[in-house]
Amino acid sequence: MKNLHNALQLKQLYLLKQMGYSYTDIAPSDLENEPTELPDNLEELRKFVENCHLCDLSKSRHKVVFGEGDPHAKLMFVGEGPGATEDSTGRPFVGRAGELLTKMIEKVLYLSRSQVYIANIVKCRPPRNRVPTPTEALTCRPYLLRQIELIQPRIIVTLGATAYRYLTNDESPIGRVRGQVIHTENYLLVPTFHPSYLLRNPSAKKEAYHDLLTVKDLYEKYK
Ligand code: SF4
Repeated sequence: MKNLHNALQLKQLYLLKQMGYSYTDIAPSDLENEPTELPDNLEELRKFVENCHLCDLSKSRHKVVFGEGDPHAKLMFVGEGPGATEDSTGRPFVGRAGELLTKMIEKVLYLSRSQVYIANIVKCRPPRNRVPTPTEALTCRPYLLRQIELIQPRIIVTLGATAYRYLTNDESPIGRVRGQVIHTENYLLVPTFHPSYLLRNPSAKKEAYHDLLTVKDLYEKYK
């Protein structure tokens, strides 16, 4: 797990910086003793992530929001990060944006939430719902990548710019890429708007509806 190893290395460098070091030519110690392999089943991974303090978001979170749904789902949704309701309940997409996502899943895809898997780029709530910093997103990303490896979805829908950016390393504006079907090695990726954006901009719901129809066609084909 090279990404997790890098995240651990970064964490140790931050610690050295906080202790007053401005430069070190000493290789960060004890990395060999850190568990750089992530668990190979979802429940063990959940326990691992629930004890994570790798980034600053751990300081202000109430609950880690790991993700939920069918562990063998063919369709997975990836959002940006937990909000206030998610932080207090430990469940993803259960606030107002979550209600809209649930409606989209039920009314357009004719599926229930328990038939799909829902997760986020960062598992802890950024204060005041700000966008996660690149350090936070990249530190947390190995957990999402491991979830994807274990669940093996056929289709991933990224919700909003942050989810798309950190899953693909592509910084294209979401308005340009939404609705496209992107073929990756292991799954098809369809970016669309984040439900929070749709709540603020109801006129974009029409485009999101068309994106979901694309997802529905793919799901029928690959389920
Ligand atoms: S956001 Fe991710 S990396 Fe940061 S503390 Fe939470 S689980 Fe760990």
